Amino acid sequence: MTIRGRYAPSPTGYLHLGNARTALVAYLLAKFQDGEFVMRVEDIDLQRCKPEFQKANLAELRWLGLDWDEGPDVGGSFSPYIQRERFEFFKTKLSELTDAGHTFPCYLSRKDIQELASAPHEGFPSYGVAQRAENERLSPQKQAEGKQPSIRLKTIDKTIAFEDKFVGKQTLELSTLGDVVLRRADGMWAYHLAVVADDIAMNINQVVRGDDLLGSTATHLYLYELFDAPVPDYWHVPLLLDTDGKRMAKRKGSLTLKSLQDADVNPEKLVGLLAYSLGLIDSLESVSVNELLNNFNPQDMNKDAYQLTTEDLSFLGL
Ligand code: GLU
Repeated sequence: MTIRGRYAPSPTGYLHLGNARTALVAYLLAKFQDGEFVMRVEDIDLQRCKPEFQKANLAELRWLGLDWDEGPDVGGSFSPYIQRERFEFFKTKLSELTDAGHTFPCYLSRKDIQELASAPHEGFPSYGVAQRAENERLSPQKQAEGKQPSIRLKTIDKTIAFEDKFVGKQTLELSTLGDVVLRRADGMWAYHLAVVADDIAMNINQVVRGDDLLGSTATHLYLYELFDAPVPDYWHVPLLLDTDGKRMAKRKGSLTLKSLQDADVNPEKLVGLLAYSLGLIDSLESVSVNELLNNFNPQDMNKDAYQLTTEDLSFLGL
């Protein structure tokens, strides 16, 4: 079976170094296995995703030395390569779930859900039994007020076990994320439905992404089961951390590819730094994506997160 791997950027800003590192791994893994590498733009967030970022993101990845067999700019036989053009399909997949009784309308606002969480919560509280009961209690009133519901996945108590190709055996509880939103109250599509529906539509059988999304995989595997679709292999890549040890984020201004491009940094320096952080080369040196591919062995990759150092930045000339 031909490997079909993908990288799925969200064009909400310029890509940071962590995004570039995941994209590089996705490319190397697909090409190492003589597979196809697909670029898919995840632009369902109609407010935050911008066409100019989409254009910039593709240019940033090409500057890095990546090339894709299919994508929004080169076409391919699994188009569209932009999520915004697949809304009708998302609708069909949502109807399948609804017809089989796996969804429910939810009238609770974020505020309602937060207020319901009895203890202070780290992050946003997951949606479970208490939230469902509160939703039932408040629904008639919210309906009378003309409020639109979001559509949530009705989960069950289930342990989901799978073998991540990178980080090994995982046992996750579906209840951790709970009844996730599939379509928001304002009609916007939510990540969990879009990503699974898209990967199914595009015959993607190798998902490479940052390990901040590892926890979502239980929900995704449950959706594959409900859709009766073959599941892809997952490779969750440990994150690249900023020099302060914190996660990189576009919003907090982490170092971007665009800023390196603008500063005329040689992209092979960045590839070298990313390869070094992954354990693919032993010292900081410039390397091209092709050289890296010729010597690539997935077994060599570090299984730990990597924190950028000031030496790394000075290697880039910063
Ligand atoms: N669009 C997501 C991101 O930019 C990646 C989602 C995925 O690969 O499943 O982080």
